[in-house]
Amino acid sequence: MTDKVDWRGKYRALALEVEQHEQQHAQAAECLRNLAIQLDLAVHGQSATLDQLLASLVAELQAGKLDAVPDLLRKTEKHVRLLDETRAQQARQLIKRIDEWVLLLQGTAESQAGTLVEVRQKLAGTADNMQQLPGLIDTLLTFQRQNAYSDSDTVSADDLAQPGDVISSRMAQRLLELIQLFNVPAQHRARTHELISRLEAGPGSEELEQCLEEVSVLARACGGNVGADIQAYLVGLSEQLAYLRSFLDKAETADTVQLQRNNLLDQTVRHDVQKISQTVKLSSDIDELKTAVSTQLASLIKAVNTHRRAEDQHIAELKRERQGLMSRLDEMEQKAAGFRRSAEEAHMKSRTDPLTGLANRFAYDQQLVNELARYQRYGTPFALCVADIDFFKGINDQYGHLAGDKVLRLMAKVLRSSLRGVDFVARFGGEEFVILMPSTGGKSAHQAAEKVRKAVEQSPFNFQSRPVHITVSIGVAEVMSDDTGESLFGRADSNLYAAKSNGRNRVVMH
Ligand code: GH3
Ligand code: MG
Ligand code: MG
Repeated sequence: MTDKVDWRGKYRALALEVEQHEQQHAQAAECLRNLAIQLDLAVHGQSATLDQLLASLVAELQAGKLDAVPDLLRKTEKHVRLLDETRAQQARQLIKRIDEWVLLLQGTAESQAGTLVEVRQKLAGTADNMQQLPGLIDTLLTFQRQNAYSDSDTVSADDLAQPGDVISSRMAQRLLELIQLFNVPAQHRARTHELISRLEAGPGSEELEQCLEEVSVLARACGGNVGADIQAYLVGLSEQLAYLRSFLDKAETADTVQLQRNNLLDQTVRHDVQKISQTVKLSSDIDELKTAVSTQLASLIKAVNTHRRAEDQHIAELKRERQGLMSRLDEMEQKAAGFRRSAEEAHMKSRTDPLTGLANRFAYDQQLVNELARYQRYGTPFALCVADIDFFKGINDQYGHLAGDKVLRLMAKVLRSSLRGVDFVARFGGEEFVILMPSTGGKSAHQAAEKVRKAVEQSPFNFQSRPVHITVSIGVAEVMSDDTGESLFGRADSNLYAAKSNGRNRVVMH
C-alpha cells in the first residue's frame, strides 16, 4: 500500500499551488498596470510617442494580455531616457541664457558685482534643482531695475564735463599770461585787478566769454603797447571759446537723446519683466514655465543688447568729439603760444636798447615810477646815479663811431658786472647811463658808484691794437620825500655836472 501513490492528495496540493501562482500573477499584473497608469499620469503631455506607448501598455495589462508587454516596456524605458536627456538639454540652454543676462548686468553695474557673482554660483547649481530658477530670475529683475542706467550716466557726465573744465581753465591761464604783457595805464589798474581775480577763480565758459571781452577792451585801452599780434591772439582765443560752446551745446543735445533712449529701455524692460513675473505667478507646470521664461528672457536680452549697442555708439561718438576738441585746442594753443612769443619779443624789444642790451629809457621811466611808488608806500630809500663817459666825443673823433659803439658796449658790461643783480641799469641816451639802486641810501650809493668808476677806469680797452683810456663821471642822488622822478633826476644830473666841472672821472653827491 505504501507504493500506492496518493494521487488525490497530490492533485489537491498541486491545485492549491497553481491557484496560489495564479493569484500572485494576477497581483503582479495589477501592480504593473497601476505602475503604468501612474507613469502615464506623471509624464503625460511631454512626448506623444511616450503617451501612446503607455496607453498601449495599460490597455494590454488591463486585457490581461501579457505577450506584448515586455516589448512595450523596453520601448517605454528607451523613451523615458530620451525625454530625460531633452529636459537636461533645455535646462542647460535656459541656464546659459540667464548666465548671458548676468554677464550683461555685470557690465552695467561693476560696483555691485558681488550680488551677481552669488547669482552665477547658484545658477550653476540649478541644473539639478530647477525649482530655484524663478527665485533667481526675480533677483536679477530687481537688480536690473535698480542698476541698469547708473553706468551710462557716469560715463556721460565724465566725458562731457571734463573737457569743458579743462578748456576753460587753460583759456583762463592764457588770458592771465596775456594781461601780464599789457602796460596798463593807471586809470585801468583797478578793473585789471578785478579781471585777474575773476580769471584766477576759474570762470565757467559763459563768464570766460565776458572776461575775454573785458581783455579785448583792456587791450584797446592799453592802445600803443598792445600790438597786432596780441589782437590776433585774442581773436584766436575767442575762436577757441566759440568751438567750446558748440561742443557743449552738442553734448547737451546728446544727453537728451540718451535720456530718451533710457526711457525707452525702461519701458521695454518693465513690460518684459511684468510678463515674466506673470508667467512665474500663473504657471504651475515647471516645463511650461521654463519655455515661457526662456522666450521672454530672449526678448529682454535683445532689448538690453540693443540699448547697449546704442550706448556704445554714443560713447564712441562722444570720445571722437572730445578728441577732436582736444586736438583743436592743442592747435589753438600752439598758435597762441606763437603769438605770445612774438608779443613778448616785441615787448622786450620795446624795453631794450639794441646796442648794449641794457634796459632803455622807456623801461627806466617805468622802473622809476615803481621805485617812487614803493618809496611812498613803504618808505624804503633808493638812489639814482647818472653816469656819463668822459670825452666821448673825442673817442668818436679819434677812432671812429664803431670804436665809440664798442666803448658803449664795454661800458654796459662793466656797469652790469660791478653792480648788484637788483640794481637796475639802463642806457639813458648817447653815452649817458642811469642806475637805480633799490633799498640803498645815499652813502651806500656813493660807494657803489665809486666802485663802478674804478672798474671803468681799470678796464683795459684796445682799439686797433692801441690802448684807449676810458673814464666816467657819476652824479648820485638819494630819494627825498616829495620827490618826483624829474626832481630826483635833476639832483643827480646837477651832481654829474659838478663831477664834470671838478675834473671828471669822479663821483659827486651833494
Ligand atoms: P663830456 O666829458 O663833457 O661828457 O664830453 P663828451 O664828449 O662825452 O660829451 P658830449 O656830450 O659833447 O659828446 C657826447 C657824444 O656822444 C656826442 C655823440 O656823437 C656821441 N654819441 C652819442 N650817442 C652815440 C652812439 O650811439 N654811438 C657813438 N659812437 N657815439 C654816440
Ligand atoms: Mg653826455
Ligand atoms: Mg660824455
